[in-house]
Amino acid sequence: MALIDIRSLTKLYRMGDTTVRALDGVNLTIAAGEFVAITGPSGSGKSTMMHLLGCLDRPTHGEYVLDGRNVARLNDRELADVRNRKIGFVFQTFNLINRTSALENVAVPQFYARRLNTRQPARKALERVGLGHRMHHRPSELSGGERQRVAIARAIVNDPVLVLADEPTGNLDSRTGEQIMEVFHSLNRQGVTIILVTHEHDVAIQARRIVQMRDGKIIADRSTEEVLRDSGPSGLPNDGKQKGGIDKILTAGSSSQPRMNEEGLPYPAPAGNAAAPGIGVAVEQVSVNNGALSVSVAEETPLAQGANFGMICGIAAPLLAGLGYALGRLAPRDQFREGVQPSQEAMMLAFGAMGSFLIALVAAIIAIVVSRGALRRMREAPIELSGKLRARTGLWLGWLVVLLPVFSIAWQIAKKTLKS
Ligand code: ADP
Ligand code: MG
Repeated sequence: MALIDIRSLTKLYRMGDTTVRALDGVNLTIAAGEFVAITGPSGSGKSTMMHLLGCLDRPTHGEYVLDGRNVARLNDRELADVRNRKIGFVFQTFNLINRTSALENVAVPQFYARRLNTRQPARKALERVGLGHRMHHRPSELSGGERQRVAIARAIVNDPVLVLADEPTGNLDSRTGEQIMEVFHSLNRQGVTIILVTHEHDVAIQARRIVQMRDGKIIADRSTEEVLRDSGPSGLPNDGKQKGGIDKILTAGSSSQPRMNEEGLPYPAPAGNAAAPGIGVAVEQVSVNNGALSVSVAEETPLAQGANFGMICGIAAPLLAGLGYALGRLAPRDQFREGVQPSQEAMMLAFGAMGSFLIALVAAIIAIVVSRGALRRMREAPIELSGKLRARTGLWLGWLVVLLPVFSIAWQIAKKTLKS
């Protein structure tokens, strides 16, 4: 069974009154373990294709079966789940979080996949790309090639079946680019399916199959062997200076020139640019940037899960305890003596007071448990999480209410001993 099976895949972008056919009825089948290069001039739909293949967006029409599952019409949450489990992304501009180490960057997708031990797989992934000795360096302390290897480690940390790379060597010199390609080769030998978009001749011919696009359509789909044979001896690998026929089928445009819309602005993020945890970046937006798929790393820190809920329960607990106290004060004491039948109103007040105390106690316990969980997540997360103050508020208010009976008994005893 094919890993990827695409039928009549179409993607339309509406720009004001005009409609752009970014993908126009594409059929494509890719088996598990393949190494495919997608080439074509700027604007031919390569990034749009990667977008859809990567479950970052849904097609306007058509079918996409990935690993036996039709993913063309999943909702955002389901798409994010597929991305997280099955797909790794590598971008031209690396998209690493600058304020944290290589190890933490690689651990981010694990955190989103809610794995408990995030560091061990991250370490292994960095070793797989030959960066075991650079784990604690920040991106700014690494070379371009090393940064891209960190990004590849991040892409493979969840053991995806598919790695998608959009111009992965576009920002690197050719020697460093070769090293990156060597990493892809070694992953491919380990069984990972690789699809990469490239403008570069030397990069494309390293794949085993080359898919050429133009105007949103696939115009050729051949093995690299065939492409090289057809384009003559000058198109052979490592020929370096003299690039033959294959270059003609590669690109007209170069990625160095940003493509702009009619207003002279870069294209806005395409539809469906919801936060994409599958990419493994903290809080990000997916966009098409200079014709290449990219994500922007938001520098804002996400709120730790549970911090808000812990605080709300923590605030509710003393309020409920206060209500219980007030109801208890209202209940006429003289009706609760031996031999006296309390009135219905007195009974209701008494029950109300007890009920409020009970719910206050439950809210306090929830506040403690949830807030402690949030604080633990903040300690263990590979990225910074906010909400410490909220979680602490929840925790302390929770303890206050739980310990209230102890305080109250201590107060009574103190009062008695003072009187006597
Ligand atoms: P490539 O990656 O091959 O350069 P793209 O997939 O980025 O091509 O773009 C394919 C076509 O879709 C182009 O004509 C481009 O102008 C258009 N396009 C891409 N993204 C958007 C968008 N978000 N809004 C409108 N048009 C877009
Ligand atoms: Mg592109």
